[in-house]
Amino acid sequence: MFETTVAGSLPKPAWLAETNKLWPQWKASGAELDAAKADATVLALKEQEDAGIDIVSDGEQSRQHFVHGFLERIEGIDFEHKVEMGIRADRYKAMVPTVTGPLRLKGRVHATEARLARAHTKRKLKFTMPGPMTIVDTIADRHYGDKVKMAMAFAALLNEEARGLQADGVDTVQFDEPAFNVYMDEVKDWGIEALHRASEGLTCTTAVHICYGYGIKANIDWKAGLGGEWRQYEETFPALAASRIKQVSIECKNSHVPIDLIGLLKGKDILLGVIDVANDTVETPEDVVATITEAMKHVPKERIFPCTNCGMAPMRRDIAMAKLSALGAGAKLARERLA
Ligand code: ZN
Repeated sequence: MFETTVAGSLPKPAWLAETNKLWPQWKASGAELDAAKADATVLALKEQEDAGIDIVSDGEQSRQHFVHGFLERIEGIDFEHKVEMGIRADRYKAMVPTVTGPLRLKGRVHATEARLARAHTKRKLKFTMPGPMTIVDTIADRHYGDKVKMAMAFAALLNEEARGLQADGVDTVQFDEPAFNVYMDEVKDWGIEALHRASEGLTCTTAVHICYGYGIKANIDWKAGLGGEWRQYEETFPALAASRIKQVSIECKNSHVPIDLIGLLKGKDILLGVIDVANDTVETPEDVVATITEAMKHVPKERIFPCTNCGMAPMRRDIAMAKLSALGAGAKLARERLA
């Protein structure tokens, strides 16, 4: 009951990469960088275990960014000439690579860190990858000429890697789709179909993380303009409920998403965001229990998995760790009182 997990990323140690940045530069290169990534991965697992996280991740310590970390092993993408592109419906600009030819995996993408993580924890292991819609929203195209066609091509590659991760012993494969609250019609038209393609044939647990973005300035400014109640999910939750994806990860702590909307995710496990990643105030275990108590009014308690609102990559590391401890302690308290 109330098994805890994280949305995915954790802050990187200062000896691995620049801190407090969404697109940090690595502090080493070559074999030295590979060793540093491995050390950081083992450390991230240990810190999650100590904090009381039940379903742990590699903390995304081996990738610079949650989207481009996957793209780096794909043939047909030009990384040399990055172009500026407005992403998430022009919410902010990013320098992105370009698809220039047919897409193909050069080999396994995350085998090294997945196998390392598997070897160093007995807890359930979750692995995250960007979802197809979010990928095509974060890359320029000079080859496919059609967003859906390109998304399905990426979905096929994600599926290849997801099957590999499953064979490596990963318990949950999660696709991150922050684009799902921006293009509501497209979610229903092809976004979920693309997720189905990406998760085809998997027997491990499947999850999708949807959210209003990291706590970076562009997102905070955008959220400020969305009004008092964020009802975007009202359109997409019924479609997600009908999907084959088992778990849905959403932000609830300090969120303007009306909590009753999670009732629309019938039959799904809810990875309930009880930890805000957009501010540095550390939640108390009581705060965590309060969010769980609210959620229990709308979904059966056995379907609630306390989680962080979103990735913690750009956060201060000491604060992120304190928040993880609050998550673990809060879930323990909730088990004692509510289970
Ligand atoms: Zn997120």
